[in-house]
Amino acid sequence: MKKYNLGFFPTPIHELKNLSEKYKRYRLYIKRDDQTGLALGGNKTRKLEYLIADAIENGSDTIITAGAQQSNHCRQTAAACAVAKLKCHLLLGGNEPETFTGNLLLSKLLGATIHYAGENRKGEDIHKLADHLASQGLKPYIIPYGASNITGAMGYVEAAKELKEQMVSGHLKIDYIFFASSSGGTQAGLILGKTLYDLDSQLMPVSIDKDETYGVEQEKAILNLVLQGKNILNLDKTFSLKDTALIKGYNEAGYGVITSNEKKAIKELAEIEGIILDPVYTARAFYGLTDYLEKELIEPDSNVLFWHTGGAPANFYYARDII
Ligand SMILES: *Cc1c(COP(=O)(O)O)cnc(C)c1O
Repeated sequence: MKKYNLGFFPTPIHELKNLSEKYKRYRLYIKRDDQTGLALGGNKTRKLEYLIADAIENGSDTIITAGAQQSNHCRQTAAACAVAKLKCHLLLGGNEPETFTGNLLLSKLLGATIHYAGENRKGEDIHKLADHLASQGLKPYIIPYGASNITGAMGYVEAAKELKEQMVSGHLKIDYIFFASSSGGTQAGLILGKTLYDLDSQLMPVSIDKDETYGVEQEKAILNLVLQGKNILNLDKTFSLKDTALIKGYNEAGYGVITSNEKKAIKELAEIEGIILDPVYTARAFYGLTDYLEKELIEPDSNVLFWHTGGAPANFYYARDII
């Protein structure tokens, strides 16, 4: 599949020395996809490299995508469109606010046209918008919620290869990889890439959002993506719901609700390592990771990687809930 370069890769991987001193039974590492470089970075950059290339190949001149108002995906899509000279229409949940802040502010600065969808934050009305834009003579290309179709997921198939190469060249063994999983493209890509590139680490996807997407349960949606990828990549392996299982104990408050868990996680990594998490995704996943370490729910004396997927701009919007 074709790619349109949007970020700086490979992203760095480094040890979290201070955190490893705190959780003495484990050696902790971090992979910095918060540093992909595209308008403050994040995991959607890798997916967009494939999606933007596909849109251009299709002769499209306009990208439409959807998400919550503080969507990191929408912010990175707006930036990608600026780079690739495409028009960008974002369909965001809620109503137009009085003040623009966090990701919404950046999406606006990046030149996106913003539509407000009220209750619908997952692009339920996206085809209606596409028809409307087509009737005006535009050639719209729809990127689904979270950029999680198989084209987008290819970004994380490739990311698994990147990590494998870093592990080989750095003589590094990683036993567990913790990361935030929501619309599932990241997880599906990593599952496929793990098989394709013989990545010998256990994936630990922490579920962020307990809602279904387009009426399909997350684990089934992720399995669907994996099965599509299996065909495209010619993988000789059977996949089942066991392979797409999520760690579900930390999403009870619901999507985008900041609890004492997320607050604790943001404060901990910031104060101990000088690294900024985001309140919606990575803080929840990082809290899950530290809970596993404290309770020794994973093998002691193992090497654990936290895959930072970005999102820091949302801290400014959620300021009052975090401090
Ligand atoms: C979108 C996002 C995720 C989740 O990735 P999915 O591929 O949607 O599962 C994780 N972290 C951040 C910061 C994100 O913006």
